[in-house]
Amino acid sequence: MKSIVFIAPPAAGKGTQSIRICKEYHLSHISTGDLLREEINHDSEIGKRIKQIINDGFLVSDDIILSLLMRKLENIKGGYILDGFPRNLNQAIKYDEILNSQNKKLDYVIYINLDKELSKKRIIGRVSCPQCGNVYNNMLEENCPQKENICDNCQMPLIKRDDDNEEIFEKRYETYISETAPLIDYYQQKGILFEIDGSLLKDEIFKKICEVIND
Ligand code: AMP
Repeated sequence: MKSIVFIAPPAAGKGTQSIRICKEYHLSHISTGDLLREEINHDSEIGKRIKQIINDGFLVSDDIILSLLMRKLENIKGGYILDGFPRNLNQAIKYDEILNSQNKKLDYVIYINLDKELSKKRIIGRVSCPQCGNVYNNMLEENCPQKENICDNCQMPLIKRDDDNEEIFEKRYETYISETAPLIDYYQQKGILFEIDGSLLKDEIFKKICEVIND
């Protein structure tokens, strides 16, 4: 049973790669960003608060994240990938405590590294399919859909996330550097961090992650 965490700056490809790795290794995919977006779609009071926090480029509180995650983990059997969790040191420490209490361990932390300029370019052009989740980029030739704004797989019109714009990007990136980047050291010291160059093509990144997991 494999347990994997993905850490990356905005739009480095952690969502795309983690979904692909889950398919390849028959793992469950748990994206805390998706769990939060589901909550927003319920249009509850808490959903409205979450939407505001995400659109301000901040992190949602650890209490909310941990309760959504615990609820999700109860229904998961076998290995899984955490995509977007932990996002700060407190979450990482809490997650270690959860794993210890269940006599489990974290196998790999995949860190997809990407510089700020490329991260910004990817955010601004990023669109995705609401049906299959495939991600495209209108600003990067190698990742444009074949027909403008239409999913190659399902022919559905592509959509853009509310928080994928230049203004929110600056805040999200700042939050990433101050809150999430310290996790790189934290996991490096535990000897389970594997760094992958996020500027490579998607297929190359996928191959490199597979090499880590197969080792
Ligand atoms: P993502 O889909 O991973 O890019 O997440 C979108 C947004 O959801 C982030 O910019 C945060 O505001 C929020 N978020 C996702 N995961 C977490 C987490 N583990 N802790 C706090 N906030 C999170």
